[in-house]
Amino acid sequence: MSKKDYYEVLGVPRDADEKAIKKAYRKLAMKYHPDRNSDDPNAEERFKEANEANEVLSDAEKRANYDQFGHAAFENGGGGGGGAGGFSDIFGDVFGDIFGGGGGGRGRGRSRAQQGADLRYNLDLSLEDAVHGTSVKIKIPTMNKCDPCNGSGAKKGTSPTTCTTCNGMGQVRMQQGPFSVQQTCPRCRGTGKMIKDPCKSCGGEGLIQESKTLSVKVPAGVDNGDRIRLAGEGEAGTLGGPHGDLYVQISVKEHAIFERDGRNLYCDVPISFVDAALGGELEVPTLDGRVSLKIPPETQTGKLFRVRGKGVISVRGGGPGDLLCRVSVETPVKLNKKQKALLEQFQESLNHDKHTPQKSSWFDGVKAFFED
Ligand SMILES: [Zn+2]
Ligand SMILES: [Zn+2]
Repeated sequence: MSKKDYYEVLGVPRDADEKAIKKAYRKLAMKYHPDRNSDDPNAEERFKEANEANEVLSDAEKRANYDQFGHAAFENGGGGGGGAGGFSDIFGDVFGDIFGGGGGGRGRGRSRAQQGADLRYNLDLSLEDAVHGTSVKIKIPTMNKCDPCNGSGAKKGTSPTTCTTCNGMGQVRMQQGPFSVQQTCPRCRGTGKMIKDPCKSCGGEGLIQESKTLSVKVPAGVDNGDRIRLAGEGEAGTLGGPHGDLYVQISVKEHAIFERDGRNLYCDVPISFVDAALGGELEVPTLDGRVSLKIPPETQTGKLFRVRGKGVISVRGGGPGDLLCRVSVETPVKLNKKQKALLEQFQESLNHDKHTPQKSSWFDGVKAFFED
């Protein structure tokens, strides 16, 4: 492969200084950048040549070798090879400098493919579905690449042109006092492209909103705030970038009977005051049917009874939690005359210190409080 003389490529004399080489190179890179010359097949070649020439001539050691040996200096893996990296790398190296990006500014100032945004979907589940797992179909709005314009935003048969404000960079430099600030180009909003005739379907955005139906498998044991990630189901990327992800965020609806706290379930169980006094056996609900619960005599309101293993198995694994039944003693209502008489009779039979110790000690406390 015969190569052009590097000085000729850049159009500088052999004794050109570093500054002149840099300047000549920037001019050529701007002129022949492939993004701006999509209709000129020679431009890419010229761009590569300029890059290669610059790589050698801007490096004092390489330049000295080149001056002495010509292209032969770099032919055996000598490291002259321009165009080896992708255009974005080349571009970043050149313009990072111009735009003050320095070494870390690689690729800045260029509009490049970006991953689409992640989406979040709030999924309301019943407690039963959250605990047992389920499969649901969800319909989500999604921005997809517009078909008629193939995502370019330009009317069919036309193509976007390079933004003349930022020269396709997507970024402009503003002078503010002694500082210069790099900003997204206001004209093309960072895309580096201008659309003269916008596509009618998408209004020039290149994306259109559609909806899609997805089947989501909800594993057993999920809880409020858990997220299920559906990779690649988010919004379409720009300039051919990959789709974002979809996060299905679980929120569990309130249940008529149960409250969940981690692995445990709680429920309130009202019992008659006769059962509370004499003890008895109750049926209590679980998520998988009923179980019987023994209530010992002299049970007070607020007492928790644990039914082992009737809680929830977490989606994160481990054994099942427990069901905790919170007892509340119910005051009887709508009593008839006879029942009231029986209760009055019962009341008279009570020896308060003995049969209602809580009430007695409470009254003692109140008495002491007022007498002090
Ligand atoms: Zn622009
Ligand atoms: Zn379109």
